Amino acid sequence: MRDFTFDTLNRLFSSLKNSGYNFIPVAEAFRDHEGKCLILRHDVDARNKNSLQCADMENRLGIRGTYYFRSVRGSYDEGIIREISHLGHEIGYHYEDLAAARGDYNQAIRLFEQNLAKLRRLVPIETICMHGSPLSKYDNRKLWVKYDYRDFGISGEPYLDIDFREVLYLTDTGRRWDGERYSIRDRVTPAGNESDAGKAEPAMRHPVFRSTFDILDAVTAGVVPSRILLTLHPQRWDDKLLPWLRELIWQNIKNTGKGLITRSAIRR
Ligand SMILES: [Zn+2]
Repeated sequence: MRDFTFDTLNRLFSSLKNSGYNFIPVAEAFRDHEGKCLILRHDVDARNKNSLQCADMENRLGIRGTYYFRSVRGSYDEGIIREISHLGHEIGYHYEDLAAARGDYNQAIRLFEQNLAKLRRLVPIETICMHGSPLSKYDNRKLWVKYDYRDFGISGEPYLDIDFREVLYLTDTGRRWDGERYSIRDRVTPAGNESDAGKAEPAMRHPVFRSTFDILDAVTAGVVPSRILLTLHPQRWDDKLLPWLRELIWQNIKNTGKGLITRSAIRR
């Protein structure tokens, strides 16, 4: 069985569901929960039709999550946003305004406000989540050093409001589950420690997973923590062989490039 196909993802979700995990969107993560829970987050970076396919599959399994849309082509599509919302999922804003404004905070907050308003004309927006902007020197989260998203009716940002000492962070960044070393910004720190955002190691120690099948084995063995934030990039998942191969090759090229950027960032 190939990894990073919707069939494999379906198996992972079914196994987590059978192990008693309650799947919730990000907006609900900021409320109290009992028992096992999995906060399900999707970053719609590109190829938004894959996100629609993913949202539909989850709907059939009776699970809900959050889909974060950027304001760029390939991500933003009013029809797809409405459809995913109708399937019962939360929609959020995947912001990158500080990078888009090249570090100009005044312009960035104006862009943020406009893009948020554009999304809110379609669906309610309660949470936001940064886009990593790997090619930019600006960390989009830094916008909140100067401004407060709560002033815009936003209840939370997963990188800043989830306590990662208690929640296991799993992300398919780099199309693998141990890709933190290839990622420039998709790393977490205990909540409130935003000055270290993007630099520190993940807060919770956990077994290292490479493939989705490694996670499946751990779920079956019952050794996965009871609270998880799972981040997916649906454009990396495909059942058809050709797009799947294209994504595999492209991710390997990008990982090599990001590895070089990360190493030179560390040296500095
Ligand atoms: Zn992103």
